[in-house]
Amino acid sequence: MLVLKFGGTSVGDAERIRTVADLVRQALPKRPVVVASAHKGVTDMLFRMGQEALHGKINLEPLRERHLKIIRDLGVPETVMENLLDELANLLQGISMVKELTPRTKDYVASFGERLSVRTIAAYLAQAGIPAKAVDAFDLGLITDSNFGAANPLPEADQIMHWNIRRIEGVPVITGYVGKDKNGDITTLGRNGSDYSATIIGAAIGAEEVQIWTDVDGVMTTDPDIVPHARPLDQMSFAEAGELAYYGGRVLHPSTLIPAIRKDIPVRVLNTFKPESKGTVILRQTPIKQVVKSIGYKDDLFLITIVSTRMLMHYGFMAKIFEIFGRHRIVIDMIATSEVSVSLTTDSDVNLDQAVKELSQIAEVTVEPGKAIICVVGEGIKRSLEVPSLVFGALRERNIKVQMISQGSTQVNLALLVDSANVVDAVQALHDSFFDVQKPVIPALP
Ligand code: ADP
Ligand code: ASP
Ligand code: MG
Repeated sequence: MLVLKFGGTSVGDAERIRTVADLVRQALPKRPVVVASAHKGVTDMLFRMGQEALHGKINLEPLRERHLKIIRDLGVPETVMENLLDELANLLQGISMVKELTPRTKDYVASFGERLSVRTIAAYLAQAGIPAKAVDAFDLGLITDSNFGAANPLPEADQIMHWNIRRIEGVPVITGYVGKDKNGDITTLGRNGSDYSATIIGAAIGAEEVQIWTDVDGVMTTDPDIVPHARPLDQMSFAEAGELAYYGGRVLHPSTLIPAIRKDIPVRVLNTFKPESKGTVILRQTPIKQVVKSIGYKDDLFLITIVSTRMLMHYGFMAKIFEIFGRHRIVIDMIATSEVSVSLTTDSDVNLDQAVKELSQIAEVTVEPGKAIICVVGEGIKRSLEVPSLVFGALRERNIKVQMISQGSTQVNLALLVDSANVVDAVQALHDSFFDVQKPVIPALP
């Protein structure tokens, strides 16, 4: 079996959905399972509608129009969306009445994008002669924890989904992004979560491959919005793609590789606009031809610096710090320590004030916003002596100050903290340095 995941742009209008049908038809001998995102822009629209409802304004028309246009262009019955729009209208009424938009309700609102799109896609596939069935992932057993906005599947989801998906007749067209917790409340896996849904589903059914169909030629040497001449990569290892997904590169949700690694399933990133291009295949192991594969970045971070002489020769100090962050559910991205200080970064200011207040009782604490991690990724880094000097040389030339450095024990990446204002410059400088066609590729040590 094969999982075909189509992102927002790939199901963004009728023409793209016709391409989706062609791709599904070609995959029929391999028994494809389709995972689909909301039409491009719809999730953002839903988040805005939730906010507006909170302030007493409810207007479903732009959302209805967005869907109606696609439905009419495809010639499928308008009734595919009727019940869902009524349900959404009731939900928005509720939000405006109670004047409350909790993370749980936000997820419920956001879920309508995928729930609407799969119904239209499946109706079109059926009309095009491909028997298909639209299904909400939670009805197939995608049970998650209750971490609204960033939920993760529970272990039992695997088995339940395995049986349910295999029982479906025709091509299942499953909602990406959404699940349900044990209380029956709808959850989402976080922005770009349909990638994660695709590998969760791929792992559950034991797929031979998960294909992520998007709007670029594969995973690129860096974000093409920053470096327009960035190039697609032929191959990446799970470890490389995992690092890149975590550090920005919205091409993949940060957790996408976890289920694929667990079941050793190749993930292929392909372009719906150019189905003939070969894309990027992500595998357990790939030959190391280039030392550096890609440059990622993660912006809008906070740098927290904790200084205390009590750290000197004391055990338990670190444990105390992490206990405080853990209790406030603050996720740490990067960390560096010296004898008397710890520097950490996080991407969310939720609960940060409270945590800082507690930390201030045991140390001097400062919080600086406006930071970014730049991440140089490649399995070859561990076998090269030249990467650090090239990185620092390139940044030095552009007068970019590095505020923190980290090279993890897996040594698949070298991560640096800079001011947000330097992100574009830093990414361009590093890309020039490692991927300029004029310069020789640095060889890895044997
Ligand atoms: P989809 O809707 O298909 O999930 P996304 O917009 O979420 O698509 O992700 C694809 C986009 O990710 C690309 O259009 C590209 O602009 C951006 N991107 C950022 N970094 C990278 C990278 N390293 N490789 C490929 N695309 C990247
Ligand atoms: N529709 C969701 C989003 O816009 C999930 C996804 O597209 O993967 O983030
Ligand atoms: Mg995406």
